[in-house]
Amino acid sequence: SSQPDQAPDAPLALPGYAHVYSGKVRDLYAPLDDSGAPRDDQLLLVASDRLSAFDFILDSPIPDKGAVLTQLSLWWFEQLVDLVPNHVVSTDVPSAVAGRAVLVNRLKMLPVECVARAYLTGGGLREYVADGQVSGVRLPEGLVDGSRLPEPVFTPSTKAPVGEHDEPMPYADVERELGADLAARARELTVAILKRGNEIAAERGILIADTKVEFGLEGDTLVLADEVLTPDSSRFWPADQWEPGHTQPSFDKEFVREWLISPASGWDKASGEAPPPLPDDVVERTRAKYVEAYERLTGRSFSAG
Ligand code: ATP
Ligand code: MG
Repeated sequence: SSQPDQAPDAPLALPGYAHVYSGKVRDLYAPLDDSGAPRDDQLLLVASDRLSAFDFILDSPIPDKGAVLTQLSLWWFEQLVDLVPNHVVSTDVPSAVAGRAVLVNRLKMLPVECVARAYLTGGGLREYVADGQVSGVRLPEGLVDGSRLPEPVFTPSTKAPVGEHDEPMPYADVERELGADLAARARELTVAILKRGNEIAAERGILIADTKVEFGLEGDTLVLADEVLTPDSSRFWPADQWEPGHTQPSFDKEFVREWLISPASGWDKASGEAPPPLPDDVVERTRAKYVEAYERLTGRSFSAG
């Protein structure tokens, strides 16, 4: 993003696919049909190694991050399958993107980022400090940064275009967009996914503080899409270091954030300029954290390519 000689967003040429869109982290392609036209019912979702921090897409990719996120999402989709159907069609993908791509059903996505919080921090904490509630749900007094909530709370946000912030979305607006019935189903499912996720993660020493999921519709059915319960879509905290009262060590971007705000980076967060490239050891330690999250949760060992 900061270096005009780089084109981090240039999509790959994948024979048999047409590039349709690039998000912050994923590149989307449509498979071509026999006549060479893009199909409108499926997408190839390719996770890149791009990392965002402080709302910038960094110039330094994290090797294997796209594969880790893709494999972790696939594992979670399976764990959650009796709770919610998912968009996965096949992992039979072009070899150029093997391991980090998945063929999915192209859904009509809900225009809402479905967020649930089990612990209080970030934007949820700011709302609570301002007026004792989060997304319209009144919370007990005396909660601090990192406190566990009595029950997970649904805190939806708008889907902002690339480069803009997602804004909190009042539940009444979600109901207006989706109708009361669909809004309630999206809320219940989001909370259920976070709860089930935390039950499973707790056995592996990880707390999932909050998470964002995206749903699409297949007919009347809500289908889980995008990625699920990854370090990019969620806050993972090491359970043995959980200590409410201050910012918790995060599982993934800790080293990146620490280095960026340290004098060593020479970067001024307030300047509005893009951050500098990361040193190799920061990249390597960050890669190791993503791999560790995958290995701890799934109990599998990660093998690249
Ligand atoms: P962020 O995930 O941070 O909110 P983003 O939207 O830029 O930002 P990416 O993960 O880079 O996210 O891009 C993935 C895009 O693909 C998103 O726009 C998401 O809504 C869309 N998407 C995911 N699954 C499906 C699906 N099954 N059908 C249609 N679109 C999908
Ligand atoms: Mg996304």
